[in-house]
Amino acid sequence: MLDLRFESSFQPGMTVGRPHDQWRYREALPVGDEVVTMGEGWTPLLSVTFDGRALLIKQEQLFPTGSYKDRGAAVLMTRLRELGVKRVVEDSSGNAGGAVAAYAARAGIACDIYVPEDTSRAKTAQIEAYGATLHRVPGTREDTARAALEAAATCVYASHVYSPWFLQGTKTFAYEVAEQLGWTTPDTLVLPVGNGTLLLGAYMGFMELARAGIVSHVPRIIAVQAAACAPLAAAFADGLDEPVEIHASHTAAEGIAIATPARGSQVLAAVRATGGLFVTVSEQEIVTSLWDCCRRGWFIEPTSAAVVAGARRYARTMAPGETIVTAFTGHGLKAAGKVAELVESL
Ligand SMILES: *Cc1c(COP(=O)(O)O)cnc(C)c1O
Repeated sequence: MLDLRFESSFQPGMTVGRPHDQWRYREALPVGDEVVTMGEGWTPLLSVTFDGRALLIKQEQLFPTGSYKDRGAAVLMTRLRELGVKRVVEDSSGNAGGAVAAYAARAGIACDIYVPEDTSRAKTAQIEAYGATLHRVPGTREDTARAALEAAATCVYASHVYSPWFLQGTKTFAYEVAEQLGWTTPDTLVLPVGNGTLLLGAYMGFMELARAGIVSHVPRIIAVQAAACAPLAAAFADGLDEPVEIHASHTAAEGIAIATPARGSQVLAAVRATGGLFVTVSEQEIVTSLWDCCRRGWFIEPTSAAVVAGARRYARTMAPGETIVTAFTGHGLKAAGKVAELVESL
């Protein structure tokens, strides 16, 4: 697996007077000063109560493209533009493709995005609107990845899963949470795992902050998967170091429906290293949490509701006073069609 050896020289005093975006941690980011940006980052961290327990929820649905993938795409496209790259290919279940397409447009880089055939219409429309060439691939999410990999034989594979620069971007989630909590560590992070791009970035970020003595320790990480597609939760339960082979069934959480996560062993190691665990959520819990969020005013996509469902499931077991940070990972408008279908079946 591709990872970067990079020593962050960031210290908290450096943010003074800087704009409130993810580039306020630029000494922690392995790119130069000419950044590809739309002012992304510094999403609000709000307290929301479910079942009588307060969760701190980072509003990652508020990014320019509607999901936290902008953290990674901005850093990755910055690096690729520095390298003089003119054309990239990427595959995704929708949101990473949208983010790469958007930041490629900002960077003047041409791109081809491969998505599974059943990806939400709003996501494919967004990708095409940014000027990317969209390829719908029949079959599984893995078939889509294979198609992209073949296309990448002749250009750069700007993969949110494989590229270490993408994780360098999602790492800023940890820096923001720590700064928003006065440079402290929450007790627990509850994060989604399909491929684990947010989870691994957050883990890496807290590891760096702890190593630099900026925070005292790394939080416990609770990983959430949809029960319908949970190769890592199953591996964790069996004490294994690699994802297990599963027969995935359909889930409303399309963004985390990853049957063969390429960084799966890294995710398992990270969760174990923090003393964390895996939680799986049913389709019923996902839909219930979707409505509970919407009825409180938060319009999030079903994938994002799976994370909330996992956080609520975990929170029922938590110690009193435990600080739990989780995220709204994607905006409801990204899956408006799927939400409409669910609304019609109410
Ligand atoms: C990408 C994404 C996730 C997490 O997916 P990973 O495959 O673990 O990176 C969760 N929610 C939304 C809305 C996403 O776009």
